[in-house]
Amino acid sequence: MKIDVLTLFPAMFAGPLDESIIKRARAAGLLDLTVHNLRDYAQDRHKTVDDRPFGGGPGMLLKPEPIFEAVEQLVRPGTRVILLSPAGRAFNQAIAHELAQADDLLLVSGHYEGFDERIREALADDELSIGDYVLTNGALPAMVIIDAVTRLLPGVLGDEQSAHDDSFSHGLLEYPQYTRPAEFRGMAVPEVLLSGNHAEIARWRAEQSKLRTKERRPDLL
Ligand code: SAM
Repeated sequence: MKIDVLTLFPAMFAGPLDESIIKRARAAGLLDLTVHNLRDYAQDRHKTVDDRPFGGGPGMLLKPEPIFEAVEQLVRPGTRVILLSPAGRAFNQAIAHELAQADDLLLVSGHYEGFDERIREALADDELSIGDYVLTNGALPAMVIIDAVTRLLPGVLGDEQSAHDDSFSHGLLEYPQYTRPAEFRGMAVPEVLLSGNHAEIARWRAEQSKLRTKERRPDLL
């Protein structure tokens, strides 16, 4: 999968996407990630990317010209252009699965008070929010989406079953998990998990999954 990111802060991407599973996915060519600096597409000698909002009000808005220039240069046939915005549809595991089917994404990350509305109207195929709170810019939302989508790409996780069993994959939270030792500080692992009876274990996990979802996230049921 190819993912391009347009941001004013390319340096923020070094680190989180250079470790662990995402690092290996990139090294294996499963994720081809390129981070572009929006300022490189500014058209004046001061590299201006923002301006005051018409009608007044606090802060600055991202101007249309640099973003139109960048998006028009970066898109290929089939690229899905996604604007990051608190006003977008709420990103979740189902949308991560949907995006993992795409070949080519361009994530456009905002700053200041956000985007001139014409950017949204003319360029965006989709608009995503990572939650009901406001961050200083779209770099972290872009990284959250890249991470969630990349781990769903075939070959990225050591065991494909991991993503299949994850919380939200079946509309439920994951069941409780335990590892060795079987008893730790007086806390014992549920007997059924030590039984070797795979049918019983599957039944217990399904029940626990429903119970946990009912207690913690009844909105999912
Ligand atoms: N004035 C905007 C509003 O109220 O919707 C907030 C702008 S925010 C300070 C700057 C940028 O950070 C946004 O344009 C967006 O790209 C990004 N951003 C902030 N919070 C976000 C969220 N929850 N989800 C996705 N992007 C977010």
